[in-house]
Amino acid sequence: MTERYAVIGNPVAHSKSPWIHAEFARACRQDLEYTLIEAPLDGFRAALDAFRAAGGSGMNVTLPFKEEAHACCQRLSERARRARVVNTLSFGARATSGDTTDGVGLVTDLRNQGVRLKGARVLLMGAGGAAQGVAGELLDAAVSSLVVANRTLSRAQALAERFPGLRACPYGELAGQEFDLVVNATSAGLQEEAAALPPGVLRKGLLAYDMVYGRDTPFLAAARAAGARASDGLGMLVEQAAESFFIWRGVRPETAGVLARLRGA
Ligand code: NAP
Repeated sequence: MTERYAVIGNPVAHSKSPWIHAEFARACRQDLEYTLIEAPLDGFRAALDAFRAAGGSGMNVTLPFKEEAHACCQRLSERARRARVVNTLSFGARATSGDTTDGVGLVTDLRNQGVRLKGARVLLMGAGGAAQGVAGELLDAAVSSLVVANRTLSRAQALAERFPGLRACPYGELAGQEFDLVVNATSAGLQEEAAALPPGVLRKGLLAYDMVYGRDTPFLAAARAAGARASDGLGMLVEQAAESFFIWRGVRPETAGVLARLRGA
């Protein structure tokens, strides 16, 4: 029987997840359907319940519902409990289970790109759902330091309080600090804006990683202009999807070909 999955968000029309999961399903010979659901901003729970009642097996959750999804779960993976956000829901007979795969997605994509995280000095920009979802995995990867900066400093401070080893710092006080990797987990690039990094933070020898994909953001342009290596978040998107697919289907899809085809499209 064809099992049904969906990605739910607002807006979500641009999502590449249906295409990615269709590719995984074809390659792994899995009989499933994966659609898009745009829920009203105040209608996440109702849309989830309707999809589940109609026989849905699981959902990916994207902006702005990841925290609400966390609150809807009766069971949480350890990493979802720590992150307090959920992007992967599995509907069981009695319980809804939640997991978060963004952290694994980011770390796997970085490793695929040859980045050595162990001992790296890392700056995480942003303190929203995406930053919460990846902070734990970056720390688990034995980075030597992890600093979080955010436009609203109190959110960065709150995140740092939850994750031992994470240090909050205002953007303006980053001048003079050296990083090997800067991960932009803000949505500034979607508005063609860049968070206010002091000059000198982006430099030669560093990897600047923007979770935003499908566009050349001001952050990536600034990184290249400073001589840094720049990467968008398309690889993370594919890797987090592969982890969700594994949670649902128990099969790990090959990702390199899917990413290459996505880049070519
Ligand atoms: P979110 O919860 O809405 O958080 C947005 C973050 O961006 C906040 O920290 C916010 O700061 C900051 N921000 C927004 N506009 C800014 C600006 N102009 N200057 C500086 N900071 C700004 O969103 P999210 O769920 O964390 O997602 C963030 C981005 O990551 C989105 O673009 C999303 O598409 C992307 N993402 C990609 C993947 C992937 O697989 N590649 C996965 C997850 C997310 P304040 O706290 O001050 O508002």
